[in-house]
Amino acid sequence: MTHHQRTDLALLRETAELAIDYLTELAERPVGRPIEPDALRAALGGDLPDRGEDSERVVARLARDADPGLVATAGPRYFGFVIGGSLPVTVATEWLAAAWDQNAGNYPASPAASVLEEVAGSWLRTLFGLPATASVGFVTGGTMANFTGLAAARHGVLHAVGYDVEAHGLFDAPPVNVIVGREAHTTIFVALRMLGLGSERVTQVPADGQGRMRADALRRALEASTGPTIVCAQAGNVNTGAFDPLREIAAATAERGAWLHVDGAFGLWAAASPTLRHHLDGVEMAQSWATDAHKWLNVPYDCGIVFVADPVAHRAAMTVTAAYLVRGAGEAYQAYDYVPESSRRARGLSVYVALRSLGRSGLAQLVDRCCTLARRIARRLEAAPGVTILNDVVLNQVLVRFAAPGDDDRGADERTAAVIAAIQSDGTCWAGGTIWRGRGAMRISVSNWSTTEEDIDRSAEAILRCAELLGVPV
Ligand SMILES: *Cc1c(COP(=O)(O)O)cnc(C)c1O
Repeated sequence: MTHHQRTDLALLRETAELAIDYLTELAERPVGRPIEPDALRAALGGDLPDRGEDSERVVARLARDADPGLVATAGPRYFGFVIGGSLPVTVATEWLAAAWDQNAGNYPASPAASVLEEVAGSWLRTLFGLPATASVGFVTGGTMANFTGLAAARHGVLHAVGYDVEAHGLFDAPPVNVIVGREAHTTIFVALRMLGLGSERVTQVPADGQGRMRADALRRALEASTGPTIVCAQAGNVNTGAFDPLREIAAATAERGAWLHVDGAFGLWAAASPTLRHHLDGVEMAQSWATDAHKWLNVPYDCGIVFVADPVAHRAAMTVTAAYLVRGAGEAYQAYDYVPESSRRARGLSVYVALRSLGRSGLAQLVDRCCTLARRIARRLEAAPGVTILNDVVLNQVLVRFAAPGDDDRGADERTAAVIAAIQSDGTCWAGGTIWRGRGAMRISVSNWSTTEEDIDRSAEAILRCAELLGVPV
């Protein structure tokens, strides 16, 4: 063994130790204390060095200097956004995948990665109850899963009227109607923007008090539209966790011959649970679906997944051709047919190991446990007179509002914002803010595999302690 190889091995072992130390202390570190960018710039910035530095020192310094800016999103008391942690088996697999350095863009570059993504994709199709013929792509996240599903939709609805959008672009295309729920996730609009469909040209269908698209209003919007049409529904509202009425939406969309895309970034995982599955009734009737493994499956970033019922439309929208990309015999899975990227990391691997290690029952338990814990924190907080839960807690999302006696709506908005700031500085847990139907709220998302009842109780106590100091009766 050369001297170089020996120091490389030491570097890898020491880095693994640093990572293990972090994970060991994760549950007890402050979850995410505010820090100014200048503090981090002072520690991490400076000029690009002329001469390289010793690798072990570089990594050790990085671990030390980045630490105050790390947020314990992997830990059990991070309730911000809808984030999820990383199952240890997936962290270990990502280490291995990085060491393997496979390019999962096409079969010849990594036969193993291609087959693993093919297998993981078929497991997920079964788990979600999607058509057995649906094609699958592993993309960077929900945004790109929506983008890819909507690109297939754009192909599908224009191909149906004899227009080849991939060849000719949208310049001379028949107009495409896009109909979305008023509560569509903001990244749907990003995807539409990137696809030339415009983020503001869409028809927005009103939602009900929980944020569900109103199927009667969708019917009217569909009746008012002519020509190629794409409808975007949502499984899992980022504020309330609510699901659009998919069966009714799918029926109305099918009658009109339109394309239905479902954004199920976290909500699609409810399919894993026999007790929650009913929320997704009719989901299989859509033409494309987007979800995120880095949310509720608890795999590392970045890992979104897109499914398209018609693989021909999916491939037409995404495929690449080049003289050096030779299609082998045996119909191997070529990721570049189904995702926007060419070269890409083997992101399907952690999905594969997560599903294999949890099994159907383990995943159902993970999802159910998060929802039970969401109801638990809602109950604990709601018992305080100054606290109101704004949503029906049907999934893993809880919206909390704080008020002191005599607060009007604005007063309660300010009080709620103050409680959110206080809990973030406190560091026991982390929850962010949102606006729900014009009113400020703390948003709690329980999506981490490692959260326990004790974490929930400790967090509820910390939130109520902060609220009480700010004049909220608890
Ligand atoms: C998180 C989320 C997205 C975006 O996913 P990213 O992985 O952050 O790109 C889209 N839709 C919904 C409903 C989400 O919750």
